[in-house]
Formats: sequence, structure tokens, C-alpha cells
Amino acid sequence: MWKEKAFEHATKEQPLECCGLLVKDKGEIDYWPCRNVAFKHDVANFVIEPDDWAICEDSVDEIIGIVHSHPEFNMEFSPADKASCNALELRFYLVNPNTKSIIYIDPEISNVN
Ligand SMILES: [Zn+2]
Repeated sequence: MWKEKAFEHATKEQPLECCGLLVKDKGEIDYWPCRNVAFKHDVANFVIEPDDWAICEDSVDEIIGIVHSHPEFNMEFSPADKASCNALELRFYLVNPNTKSIIYIDPEISNVN
């Protein structure tokens, strides 16, 4: 179950945020843990290691979402999370390992027409 894997990863990375990809492969939904390289970019939240993303993309049928954790108790997407969600056009999941809860947001569809 992908949620259990995501909770496990989030617990292991505490107090840092974990990040990973939600993938679909051979009809199964799975969690693909990635390294968080936010420290390299001097940002507070999370940046998925591009090599991890590339390997994942080559290994599975489809990437269907981005998963990251907020180790503290605020289960709210930050403005940066929302911006990334819209930019990547993928569903964004937020995991809290302490409360075992998961919420998500979808990218806002811009009305170009
Ligand atoms: Zn966040």
C-alpha cells in the first residue's frame, strides 16, 4: 500500500520533509521515494533530486502525483507547494507521519480560452 510506504519514508526523514512520486506501474499504484535536495537550493521546503525523478520516469508507466511531508502538525499546503503543483500539473499529496493523514490538491486549470 503506497500510503504505508509514504508514512514510513516521512517518519524516517523527520524532522526534514520527505518527498517522493506517486506512480502507476502495471496497473498498480505505488510510492517511489526520492531524495530531498532542498538544502542544495537554499529553500525551506523540498526539491526532488532530478536524478531520482529521471530514474523513476524511466522505470514506471506513469507518474501521477507528487508526495511530500510536513513533519509538523500543519496540514496546509504552502504557497510554494501550490505554485509547484500548478507548474508541474500533477496532483500534490501532503503526508503527515504523526497523524497518519494524507490530503491532496489538484493543479488549478487556467482558463486560456
Ligand atoms: Zn509543503
